[in-house]
Amino acid sequence: MNWGLIGASTIASEHMIGAIRSNSGHDVVSVLSSSPTRGKEYAAKHGIAASTTSLSDILNGSDVDAVYISTTNEKHLPQAMAAIAAGKHVLCEKPLAMTVADAATMVRAAQGSDVVLATNHHLRNAGSHLAIRNLITTGRLGEVLSIRIFHAVMLPEHLRGWRIDNPLAGGGVIPDIVVHDADTVRFYLGEDPADIVAQELSGAMGVDVEDSVMSVWTTPSGITVQTHESFTHPFAGSGIEVHGSKGSVIARNVMTQQPVGDILLRTASGEESIEYSPHNLYERSVSKFATAVAGDGQPAATGVDGLKSLAVAEAVKKAAVTGQRTTVDYGG
Ligand code: NDP
Repeated sequence: MNWGLIGASTIASEHMIGAIRSNSGHDVVSVLSSSPTRGKEYAAKHGIAASTTSLSDILNGSDVDAVYISTTNEKHLPQAMAAIAAGKHVLCEKPLAMTVADAATMVRAAQGSDVVLATNHHLRNAGSHLAIRNLITTGRLGEVLSIRIFHAVMLPEHLRGWRIDNPLAGGGVIPDIVVHDADTVRFYLGEDPADIVAQELSGAMGVDVEDSVMSVWTTPSGITVQTHESFTHPFAGSGIEVHGSKGSVIARNVMTQQPVGDILLRTASGEESIEYSPHNLYERSVSKFATAVAGDGQPAATGVDGLKSLAVAEAVKKAAVTGQRTTVDYGG
C-alpha cells in the first residue's frame, strides 16, 4: 500500500514513517507540507520520493492508496474530508477534529464511502494495555470499581510550539492527552464515560491554553475514573490503576509511546508481575489499519472511537471552564 503523508510532522518523523515501512508492502511515496523548503528537506531526510504543497497533488495521484494526517488539529477536518472525497483511506491523528460536530462530519463522510477512517490512538495498541484489558475482560479483577490515570508529564521542548500557546491549532493538554486517556478507558471497559467534573490550570507553560487538568468521570455502570494530565511535571511518571472487587492492577510508565512499563496484579493470592508483548505500538496501528482496508475487521481505533475520545475531552474542558458537572455529549 502506498501512503501519502499529510503533514511534515514530528510524530511522522519519529514514529509513523518507520511504522508504515515496517509493514511489508507499505511505503511512503509523498509528503505534503505548507512550506516547499521544509517539505523538500523532510522528503530527502526520510527517503520520500515526492513532496508537495498542494493537497490535491497527493489526493489526485493514482499512486496513493491511503493518507496519514498529522498536521495541527484544526486541519484534520478539511484534509480528511478532501481525502475521503478522493477515495483515499484515512488514518488520522488524534484529536480527530476540533469539535465533536466536525468529527461526526468526518465519520459520516467515511460511512457513506468505501474508505476506512481510523484514529491513531496508539495506547490501545500497546501490549501493556492489551494485557490489562485482558485481565478485566477475563474477570481476574472481579467487578471493576474505579480507575486512576497518572498522565502528568513534562512536555519535551521540541513539542512545545503550538501545543502550549495556540488554541486555534488545537493546543492545550486536554486535546493532547485527555483524548488518549478517554480512549484507553473506553477500550478497557467497553462503555462510554457519562458525567464529568474537572478543574484546569494554565500559565506554568500554557499561554491561552490549559497545561494541567484533573477530572473525575463516571460511567453508566457506576465506575469512577480519576485522571491527571499535565505538560509541567518533570518527575511524576505515568501510570494507570484499575481496582476491582477481586484484584487491582497497578501499572507504571505505561502511558507512553514506547512498549515499556511494569504491570502488577494484586489479589488475595498475593502479587504477580504481568508479562506482555513488547511490540511497537505504531506498527500495530498501521497493521490493523491495513487489514481493515483489505476488508478484514476494523482498525484498532475507528473514526467513531476518535469522535468519542474527543467528546470526553470536550466535556472535561466544559466542566473545567464552567465548574459544573457535565454530561458527555457524543452527538447522538
Ligand atoms: P508538529 O508540530 O511536529 O507538526 C505539525 C505541523 O507543524 C506539521 O504538519 C508542519 O506543517 C508544522 N511543522 C513541523 N515542524 C515545523 C517546523 N520546524 N517549523 C514550522 N512548522 C513545522 O506536531 P506533532 O507531530 O507533534 O503533532 C501532529 C499531530 O499528531 C497532532 O494532531 C497531534 O495531536 C498528533 N500526535 C499524536 C501522537 C500519538 O501518539 N498518537 C503523538 C504526537 C502527536 P507542514 O505539514 O505544513 O510542514
